[in-house]
Amino acid sequence: MAGVVAAAVVAGTGAGCSSDNESTARDTPTTTLPPVPAGLPDDVFTLGVASGDPLPRSVILWTRLVSDLMADDGGVGTAPIPVRWEVASDEDFVDLVVDGTTVAEPALGHSVHVDAGHLQPDNTYWYRFRVGERTSPVGRTHTTPADDADTAELRFAFASCQNFQDGHWTAYEHMAEEDLHLVLFLGDYIYEGAPAPDAVRTYRTEAPTDLAGYRRRWAEYKADRALQGAHHQFPWVVTWDDHEVANNYASDIPEEAGVADTAVREAFLERRAAAYQAFYEHQPVRLDPPDGPDYPIHRAVVWGRLASFFVLDGRQYRSEQECLDQVVLSAAGPLCEAATGEERTMLGDEQETWLGEALAASEARWNVVAQQTIVAHVPLAGEGAGEIVNLDQWDGYPAARRRLADQLRGVRNPVVITGDIHLGGAGVITDDPDDLATAPLATELVGTSISSSFPVPDLVESTIGSLPNVRYVNARQRGYVVCTVRRAQLQAEFKVVRTVDRPQSALDTDAVWIVDDGEPDPHEP
Ligand code: FE
Ligand code: CA
Repeated sequence: MAGVVAAAVVAGTGAGCSSDNESTARDTPTTTLPPVPAGLPDDVFTLGVASGDPLPRSVILWTRLVSDLMADDGGVGTAPIPVRWEVASDEDFVDLVVDGTTVAEPALGHSVHVDAGHLQPDNTYWYRFRVGERTSPVGRTHTTPADDADTAELRFAFASCQNFQDGHWTAYEHMAEEDLHLVLFLGDYIYEGAPAPDAVRTYRTEAPTDLAGYRRRWAEYKADRALQGAHHQFPWVVTWDDHEVANNYASDIPEEAGVADTAVREAFLERRAAAYQAFYEHQPVRLDPPDGPDYPIHRAVVWGRLASFFVLDGRQYRSEQECLDQVVLSAAGPLCEAATGEERTMLGDEQETWLGEALAASEARWNVVAQQTIVAHVPLAGEGAGEIVNLDQWDGYPAARRRLADQLRGVRNPVVITGDIHLGGAGVITDDPDDLATAPLATELVGTSISSSFPVPDLVESTIGSLPNVRYVNARQRGYVVCTVRRAQLQAEFKVVRTVDRPQSALDTDAVWIVDDGEPDPHEP
């Protein structure tokens, strides 16, 4: 039974990350290491390093060895490669805390995931990798406090949606300068589209459909220095949205297919398996590699008694998007009869049950639900039965949203953080989520995108901005949100760059919204 529980935690479906994990580095092999291949290029750390999914006593360290991202073997050959890793309490690596050697396997694209243990809670560390004489950039990371620690302050940023072709990731240069413990990424880390000659930055890689293609696309994203800089400063906790596989997919149904087309669904599952594999190979996740198209990634991160994060996957298990034949604007249309069924799900049974149990068991002051699409009811036009909503968001899954509201009711300070939509916003989810006249139940903070554009900012700002459950909206600018969490309040700073069309821009704080302990409706300072 203990083995089953441990496996569940590793797979991310356990009810939270347990503390006091005295794990040694699980990747340290007991067998003889392979030699460094002859002729290996000098620069194999072109994708940088990253850390993530921290626990009180360990953190995941990541890198992937690539010297030529356009080559099928990444330019590093097809042999296994030994990789040393080191964690120190200082950035000059004088005081080494833990180290070991792992093997970068070609079957995993020469990625490595080290579970570096023997660390102290709520502490900063530096880490690096070595292959022979080659040394990686140095990353900085931070462990979580002990689960029962009475932590006074947590600073985290959240971000999403970094379409490479839409612009430069200047926001990350500013994020790297912030004083943060943690970054949460809410999906659309890569986009799967084809090269567009007139884009701000045109892809070198073709639109991916198989593992080799997704590896190249991921490597093209990971090669960006601004993105690497933000990974090098903080541990990240990442989830995905649709574009890590394909736009607006639902479960095994691609956007363009109907639910009845079995052949298309089977082909799409193969593509999904390749895409999930590439996700694993490029992110610092505390997960085992996927084995096929099914890959549970939902998990929790506990930050002492101050805050807990519940990280969700709103794509892999969701019911088909209904009413798409009535769409009038992008994914928006009236809610048809088929979308209102009680059985329809956003999270799938297993994840939904896990979330309900994890929320009910949480002892955290602030309970942050980190997920993809807007939860609050946001009618875009019309009234009553003819109301136009975005069918890709929770508005297209009203029964699932009512069940989520039931799970949030009674939880201390529920705060939903949201990506996907490429606009910044703050508002409330109402007690009856379909009835905006009911009392606020939970706070929702929507991050804008790092670079992905929003098509009709003025129209949407004027429509959404006047809704009774919306306090703030900015669809015009790209950036990220910094949250400072203390016992008495959570402060969200909406930070935006002035342009993503050119590589550099100043950073502005567009708005500050404060959530007081016990009062979900945010207010200005
Ligand atoms: Fe996006
Ligand atoms: Ca999306």
